Amino acid sequence: MSSNTIEQFDISIVGGGMVGAAAALALSQAGLHVALIEKQAPADFQPESAPDLRVSSINLASEAWLTKLGCWQSLQKMRLCPYQRLQAFEQPASVVSFDAAEIKRSHLGHIVENNVLQLALWQQFPANLTLFCPSSVTALSQAEESALLTLDNGKQLNSKLVIAADGGNSHLRRLAGIGTNGWQYQQACLVALVNTPYPQQNVTWQQFTPDGPKAFLPLPGQQGSVVWYDNAPRVKQLAALKPAQLSAELLKAFPAQLGKVEVVASSWFPLARMDANRYYSGRVVLAGDAAHTINPLAGQGVNLGFADAKLLTELIINAHQQQRDIGTADLLKAYQRKRKPANLLMMSTMDGFYQLFGNDIAPLRNLRQLALSLTARSATLKILVARYAVGSE
Ligand SMILES: Cc1cc2nc3c(=O)[nH]c(=O)nc-3n(C[C@H](O)[C@H](O)[C@H](O)COP(=O)(O)OP(=O)(O)OC[C@H]3O[C@@H](n4cnc5c(N)ncnc54)[C@H](O)[C@@H]3O)c2cc1C
Repeated sequence: MSSNTIEQFDISIVGGGMVGAAAALALSQAGLHVALIEKQAPADFQPESAPDLRVSSINLASEAWLTKLGCWQSLQKMRLCPYQRLQAFEQPASVVSFDAAEIKRSHLGHIVENNVLQLALWQQFPANLTLFCPSSVTALSQAEESALLTLDNGKQLNSKLVIAADGGNSHLRRLAGIGTNGWQYQQACLVALVNTPYPQQNVTWQQFTPDGPKAFLPLPGQQGSVVWYDNAPRVKQLAALKPAQLSAELLKAFPAQLGKVEVVASSWFPLARMDANRYYSGRVVLAGDAAHTINPLAGQGVNLGFADAKLLTELIINAHQQQRDIGTADLLKAYQRKRKPANLLMMSTMDGFYQLFGNDIAPLRNLRQLALSLTARSATLKILVARYAVGSE
């Protein structure tokens, strides 16, 4: 095929991370002719390899959709860690604890390595999905009823709709002329993969301190992921330490229940809030981090992205089955109308937590002690919080 032949697709998706891959899978399973453009394929899974540093807490709503897509079963054959309990506290003596049994579930969620979840999705790709990888988009041109992408290898793909799922720094969002609102948080976070002295754990906990939260997420076996939020210079300084030095810092700064952990690997991440001004422009629509990035303190980012992808693909499949145009402004507006307020609500809730718990001003200190003690004492409030965390209505 010559490099300037235009290939035709129903949909092109830019970015085959967790959100783009899930959307690509849902649409191709429904019989649409899908192109997926990704600059880097996920690494193969090696059971003996150390876990990916980037892990996500996947809630029950996301798990249900991923199960429907057939990828959860692959994930279970690789690596994931369920957790039954979630704890939040300022002082270890006054813990607010949520238990799966309280909402009649076997677990509250799973901690999953981002790379392994992405791979589990890729393993399900059917033949009507065409993968362009490694590849990226250099140009976009829009017509009334289609959008044309030019790839870095000169190929051109024409489709009725383009989904931009290329992450928080989305190139496609910029090509489509969609602006953003947001800011960089003063805090950054250090993520460390650790070996723990304890057998397999089933609890994820978070301690709130005025410098920022300190969290533990369990991983399979005697491993876990530790997240340490603090001001950016302090986080960068911690990230520059050797594993043994960082282990010693963790022992000093984290609550005793962490145990005597040994750091295997670590990295740090800046934290940014970003909200795209609109979720579509012409025949380009945003999903996942391309549309919004959120403070990760309650582990909601990719869960929001999956909720975007689920609704968007349902609307598209519905239009396709009724032989309607799958990229109309009405369809994209219906998607934006539902997802933008839901995402903004979660972002603002996280910012409320960030302000309430990341501050040592006396009135706020009193307010959060009241909030934690009310939540600890009220069974109804606890159930409501737990339901919100797992993603159910
Ligand atoms: C420290 C930290 C902890 C987090 N913890 C959680 C958690 O516990 N739970 C949770 O739900 N979320 C969590 N998140 C958020 C979560 O990681 C993101 O929401 C999620 O990765 C977004 O997925 P995505 O597929 O939209 O984007 P990404 O994961 O960014 O994927 C984008 C994909 O697009 C590809 N790409 C980018 N540019 C191009 C291009 N030009 N051409 C082709 N391909 C391209 C990339 O290679 C990548 O594969 C956390 C985030 C951070 C920083």
